Amino acid sequence: MADEEKNQALMDKIVALCKRRGFVFPSSEIYGGFNGFWDYGPYGSRMKRAIENLWWHEMVEMRDNVEGLDSTIICNPTVWKASGHLDQFSDLMTDCKKCKARYRVDQMEDPTTCPACGSKEMTEPREFNLMMKTFVGPVFDDEHVAYLRAETCQPIFVDFHSVQVATRQKLPFGIAQIGKSFRNEINPRNFTFRSREFTQMEMEFFCDGEEGMKWFEYWKEQRIKYYREKLGFPEDFMRIYVHEKLAHYAHAAIDIEVKYPFGWGELEGVHHRGTWDLSRHSEFSGQDLQYIDHDNHRKLMPTVIETSVGLDRTMLALLSLAYDEEKAATQKADMEEDTRVILHLPAAVAPIQVAVLPQSKKLKENAYNLYKSIDRHFRSEYDETGSIGKRYRRQDEIGTPYCITFDFDSLNDNAVTVRDRDTMQQERVNVTQLRDYLEKKMDI
Ligand code: ATP
Repeated sequence: MADEEKNQALMDKIVALCKRRGFVFPSSEIYGGFNGFWDYGPYGSRMKRAIENLWWHEMVEMRDNVEGLDSTIICNPTVWKASGHLDQFSDLMTDCKKCKARYRVDQMEDPTTCPACGSKEMTEPREFNLMMKTFVGPVFDDEHVAYLRAETCQPIFVDFHSVQVATRQKLPFGIAQIGKSFRNEINPRNFTFRSREFTQMEMEFFCDGEEGMKWFEYWKEQRIKYYREKLGFPEDFMRIYVHEKLAHYAHAAIDIEVKYPFGWGELEGVHHRGTWDLSRHSEFSGQDLQYIDHDNHRKLMPTVIETSVGLDRTMLALLSLAYDEEKAATQKADMEEDTRVILHLPAAVAPIQVAVLPQSKKLKENAYNLYKSIDRHFRSEYDETGSIGKRYRRQDEIGTPYCITFDFDSLNDNAVTVRDRDTMQQERVNVTQLRDYLEKKMDI
């Protein structure tokens, strides 16, 4: 198979697995879906929450100088005037007059030819604003127009002063937020990679301009280290794209890109945004958002270093990296080959970390009690239906790193068999040691 076909096949398999096992499926599917909107099912929402918690732990909880925020999705529309989104947050689009396909001009090699049908009849490029509009209040007129936020960081800038005063943080310090963002993407595609409603995890770090480049380098290194060490991304799965064409206010910008099945794509941006955001909000609100440096008796407009990552893209990256198939001989007489699907997910983000499987339904009570004691410490699941082989397969397919089998011997020796998803090695572990054993194995 050619590489392109293989990649498409991989993408199709991931999408099918996500649907079949309840990770992600189209929103409002019984009504034919809604382009660019996706629902996260039972396993997907667990995995999403785990990624969120990991990011929050690393970026907020482990640091004394980063505070959290949970702002509204809809805010005063002037915020988006000040940020430039109302005037500039648009894509230049062109349509094929023949096949009606629509493209972003900046993503076309040649804007005069339709990549789908080869026609030369393309419309003049037009601007499409990506902000999603709504109305607040009883009257649906221009005065009551508001917008769903296009990024989670603007409320961070708007609340900068309140957070600083409330926490008495001194520069340098950061404010982080996780939440939904909305963009009226013209061409949602590649599964959840380009959606119209998605979750961002952003952190804005405020510092003295003199130290801007130092902090930019620091956060770049921190974020790369996070992907390598916490999410296990190998070197060849990730690359850094250095922006040469910068926004007029920016001093430096890089994207962390990963190898999705459809090719390299942005996962996270680390940007040195200078004093642009706070200056604009000072100007538009009439409030002085400068920081008062009491130690040095001066006022300054803080410089901002931003780290901005999509949660949906993180999950897609993890699934792309984790998906694997192994050929395994079946137990059937003809020994035909059959495929074992495995998600090699890191334990920290696997939707289920431990599955408890009784060897026989007769052991239900003991096995279920064991599951209940484990469920307090790990994301766990109890499964007694089907053969042990089938149950292992079901767990492999959703990325469960450890399966525990409670068998008849367990009644006498108070020990269980722990099976490792990746090596398929089995070890006998005493129940009193189980929690320690699993914690060490999972490194959590
Ligand atoms: P792209 O060039 O792919 O449109 P962007 O540069 O506009 O992305 P940013 O505005 O920097 O993206 O947003 C920060 C992060 O938010 C991105 O790195 C990405 O992970 C995520 N993100 C942005 N747009 C989308 C989307 N439509 N669907 C899912 N995630 C998104």
